[in-house]
Amino acid sequence: MMSREILVMDGEKKLETAALCYQCGACTASCPLNLFNGVRINPRRIIWNIQQGLPTDVDPFLCMMCMACEASCPRGVRILDVIRLLRIEAYQANKAPQRLVQVLWNVYEEGNPWGYPAKERGKWLETIRSDNIKDKAKTLLYVGCVSSYDIRLQRVVKSLVNLLSGSNIEFTVLGDREKCCGDSVMNVGETGFLEELIQDNIKLFREKGAETIITISPHCYQMIKNIYPGYGGDFQAMHYTEYLAKLLDENKLQIDARYEGVITYHDPCYLGRYSGVFEEPRKLLEQVKDLELVEMPMSRWLTLCCGGGGGKIFMETKPEERPANVRIKQAAEANAGTLVTSCPYCIINFEDSLKLQRVGLKVMDLAEVLASEKM
Ligand code: SF4
Ligand code: SF4
Repeated sequence: MMSREILVMDGEKKLETAALCYQCGACTASCPLNLFNGVRINPRRIIWNIQQGLPTDVDPFLCMMCMACEASCPRGVRILDVIRLLRIEAYQANKAPQRLVQVLWNVYEEGNPWGYPAKERGKWLETIRSDNIKDKAKTLLYVGCVSSYDIRLQRVVKSLVNLLSGSNIEFTVLGDREKCCGDSVMNVGETGFLEELIQDNIKLFREKGAETIITISPHCYQMIKNIYPGYGGDFQAMHYTEYLAKLLDENKLQIDARYEGVITYHDPCYLGRYSGVFEEPRKLLEQVKDLELVEMPMSRWLTLCCGGGGGKIFMETKPEERPANVRIKQAAEANAGTLVTSCPYCIINFEDSLKLQRVGLKVMDLAEVLASEKM
């Protein structure tokens, strides 16, 4: 099926968005894939093909869905919607990468993209003691797939639970019953199973009494905030940095952390460019005693994708083509000793890059810095 037909099928709005384009090329120029062996994906050309009613000849799965192109577009063209539609088209034509198709099966069978046993999802709870975790509550901490299973990322969960408990927030969690938010499924271009998964999640969130949902991953945040309402899921989604910043404003969050060192903050694409959450993380870091915060030139709207968005976290990227390698060098060049972020995919990618490169840098999640003991 041609992309034009899909756009028409999906409503005039999608076709209208391509019609806005005047072919300036700012989108293609801003794509971080340009950093590696020239242009790998050309959003300007994709939109031109749609305008002309021509099939597109690009692989939409190359895209990291980082939004750098869309953010730079002077005409407000919804480039990511178009790329999502191309993925749906490719999936329906059996052209989705095999690794991503396997991700779908893993979510279907075990509720997470890696295929870890569903019955072990809530094991992280065994290492955490908090009287503030209730069976039901208006506030739900949605932990997410990778943070539930990965031992390193469980430290982030623990830090956040400590911060919430220290602020006397009562909240609930889903434990073994938690399933993927659907980000991984949407990235493959599968729509039927996505709807089923989202409906199941909405039902479970309601059963737990949730009104506000705090997420650890910006990917889960963007799903619950922007995609779930289209399926009837009317929750207040908040990334944990937003939630903690709100507690701080209300004088309900006490940050006693002290961190001696120079830190730079990496804006995750799905939190910053997608939702404009740039100041909250910095405001929280400013509360930490002795910490010096420096900025990389590519920060806030100009942030560089870690390479994990758009389902790329599940796919192999050659070492010489990993954006995370570039990012850790940028952090070191800013004279930072610690690269802080607030996304589990960024943590995985940056720590993987550090294994292969001699850069004197440490990677931490913001929650870990905020919960760090006085030194
Ligand atoms: S930046 Fe916007 S207007 Fe310019 S080529 Fe890209 S989509 Fe078209
Ligand atoms: S979303 Fe990012 S990776 Fe994809 S085309 Fe746009 S700038 Fe390139």
